[in-house]
Amino acid sequence: MPEEETTADAVELDQRSLTGDDMPGSPSGLTCPDCGGALWETCQDHLLQYRCHVGHAFLAEVLLESQAEEIERSLWTLLRILKERMALAHHLANAERQQDSSVGAIRHFEAQAEQARRRAEMIRQVLLLGEVNPLSEPDMPKQTVDEQQDF
Ligand SMILES: [Zn+2]
Repeated sequence: MPEEETTADAVELDQRSLTGDDMPGSPSGLTCPDCGGALWETCQDHLLQYRCHVGHAFLAEVLLESQAEEIERSLWTLLRILKERMALAHHLANAERQQDSSVGAIRHFEAQAEQARRRAEMIRQVLLLGEVNPLSEPDMPKQTVDEQQDF
């Protein structure tokens, strides 16, 4: 019986921690860029601050900058995956062609390659706009983006 009580207390403690009852400020609806945990918002000396359960803390401006970096990193990752998808779909279309498969099977993979190409072009345009981080626009790796003309 005492063991069950200990277990129940532990669960209650975890839930209190998860609901943020022991956190200062109010839930922000934002997540910590370092650990993915929920961020609580406080305002001290007219400065908005965000803190997660494990102690990561950010000023609002730093959090904004971190979000911009994460968005840009995600866009580059998305562009890479779309290029790989395009190459794989082309490869599968060629394999079907060499096996004298039906036109439908070949077109299926060609359509997937074309869809990936169009999506990659859209992501490339977003990266060229530099809207993610307007302040660092002059530092945008535009040459790197321009070099990727093989879509
Ligand atoms: Zn954190």
